[in-house]
Amino acid sequence: MQHLKSVNKYFWKYKTRLILGVLFIILSNYFRILTPQISGYVVDKVERSINQVVGKSTQIANKKSSYDELVVAFIHTIESANFSLKEDVIICGVTLFILAIVGGFFMFLMRQTIIVMSRHIEFDQKNEVFTHYQKLDTQFYKTHSTGDLMNRISEDISRVRMFTGPAIMYLINLAATIGFSLFFMFRENWRLTIYVLSPLPILAITIYYVNTIINKKSEKIQSLLSDLTTTAQESYSGIRVIKSFVQEASMFSFFEKNSEAYKKNAIGLASVEALYFPSMALLIGLSNLLAIAIGSYYVITHQYQVTAGTITEFVIYVNMLTFPVSAIGWTASMIQRAAASQKRLNEFLQTEPTITDNNNVLTKISGDIVFSDVSFTYPHTGIKALQHINLTIKKGEKVLILGRTGSGKSTFAQLLLHFYKPSSGKITIGASDVQDISIKQLRENISYVPQDVFLFSDTVTNNIGFGLQDKFSFDQIEQAAVFASVKKEISGFSHQFETMIGERGVTLSGGQKQRISIARALIKNPEIVIFDDCLSAVDAKTEQEIVANLYRVLSDKTAIIITHRIFSSFQFDKIIVLEDGAIIEEGTHEKLMEMKGYYADLYQIQLAGNNNEVESFTVE
Ligand code: ATP
Ligand code: MG
Repeated sequence: MQHLKSVNKYFWKYKTRLILGVLFIILSNYFRILTPQISGYVVDKVERSINQVVGKSTQIANKKSSYDELVVAFIHTIESANFSLKEDVIICGVTLFILAIVGGFFMFLMRQTIIVMSRHIEFDQKNEVFTHYQKLDTQFYKTHSTGDLMNRISEDISRVRMFTGPAIMYLINLAATIGFSLFFMFRENWRLTIYVLSPLPILAITIYYVNTIINKKSEKIQSLLSDLTTTAQESYSGIRVIKSFVQEASMFSFFEKNSEAYKKNAIGLASVEALYFPSMALLIGLSNLLAIAIGSYYVITHQYQVTAGTITEFVIYVNMLTFPVSAIGWTASMIQRAAASQKRLNEFLQTEPTITDNNNVLTKISGDIVFSDVSFTYPHTGIKALQHINLTIKKGEKVLILGRTGSGKSTFAQLLLHFYKPSSGKITIGASDVQDISIKQLRENISYVPQDVFLFSDTVTNNIGFGLQDKFSFDQIEQAAVFASVKKEISGFSHQFETMIGERGVTLSGGQKQRISIARALIKNPEIVIFDDCLSAVDAKTEQEIVANLYRVLSDKTAIIITHRIFSSFQFDKIIVLEDGAIIEEGTHEKLMEMKGYYADLYQIQLAGNNNEVESFTVE
């Protein structure tokens, strides 16, 4: 329960709505509580007339002191007007109808304020969670599944909304109904009240017991649902792998197994819930029965001034209590579920990003990049990805980083972007330590094209202009596409630059995706560009074209190109070869060829491979 304290700030924010809501609940209940009293009065009135007709003496009073002031005034008015019995009954009927409308109107307003408030809170909470997601660093995403993250922002938040909306509303409504009815019931006849309400504690205990079972079951269901979402989500995104490995059947049986477990639990929950309403009906029925049986006994024995009207009142009171009392059960269950969900949300909201911007000063990102004895170990796996890197990349240099898979190339780029902090050593750009540069400033000035390029389901234009937040002209977009050698292909699309990419539009080839990502990087006009193996899916000629463009467009900017291929390596100012996280070779093409090491070998192999291709082509 204490987890729900964190929504208090939202209640405070929407306090006007909340207070109005409470007011409407009280007003709605007040008007509804007058119904049994007027009904009681009219029944007594009819009985009195019948007694008079048959000549029996009557002890039934004209008006009861136990009624509300408003009802007393109403009775006084019609009594003094001397209407006929028929007119009296009609007036009372019309009044009951008006009371129902007024009570209903306030109920409408109560939903309008409290449920609307809960929707506002839901909106705010979603934004809070989403903003926090974006603050968290890459490490967090590596350790949480997408299904789990999705569940928190959708399922958990909607459960909390069930608390801030319906649960709160029913709870206040319950308090108001019970408060009003008990007050008038006791005032009317405390003995009868005690008898009539005696099944209620049993009801409360039964509900509590059933609810505990329901809660346990629903927690289990919640976690199964999370697993199910993750499985489904992975199957959708990995559909090509699944199909190409002909694993549809086994994926389906895996999904079916998860789904089966979910179904079993959900059915279990349904059967417990099925018990709920019949037991409720039984106990409420018992209250009704007691009101009629004991009430009638008092009427017959002329005890405690109980009349037919009193019985009518009590039966209506009991039925008015039916809904709120039955709501206790699911309100409690809603609150418990909401508390569990809020706990999950809090756990996540309290996760602090390890990389934070300590309001770092805005420094111009320019100058040499220097790695001084930088080592890095991945915190969760203990993998030593980089070891004692000492390197200077001068401003404006074009550098090629080569190395076997897993040698630490991507890690190198990610450290420079401050996705991770070095475990030891220091990285500086110009005069500033990367850790002292504001993250915004740093990442705005370094264009990074990651190895696993990602495009949004949006137009080509919006994908290229992504980092500029709509502050771009069409010429810029077109120019960036030219530099990334992808303009020609875009022009061939049905709507050119306005073509939708992804699920709702064209499916791009791997190389097209890479080049659109490159265009997105270049349009930012960055100080530093890093291409992480993003030329892997383009042919050698296009690669050379792009590299040549880099020299033209970014002549005074620094460029770091990570690759496995060395077609265009001789154009670079510096070539670095990584192996097991350490630099094993460094220098120009000529220098590395002289060294006859990894680079020279790779060059020979690739050159031979290339020539073979050319030869076999000529033979054909
Ligand atoms: P490739 O050419 O295949 O892209 P790479 O040179 O870019 O390889 P890195 O991605 O830098 O290699 O990985 C270096 C090492 O760090 C590898 O052993 C890898 O398993 C490990 N590693 C990479 N990312 C993580 C991570 N997020 N958490 C833990 N270990 C990681
Ligand atoms: Mg990599």
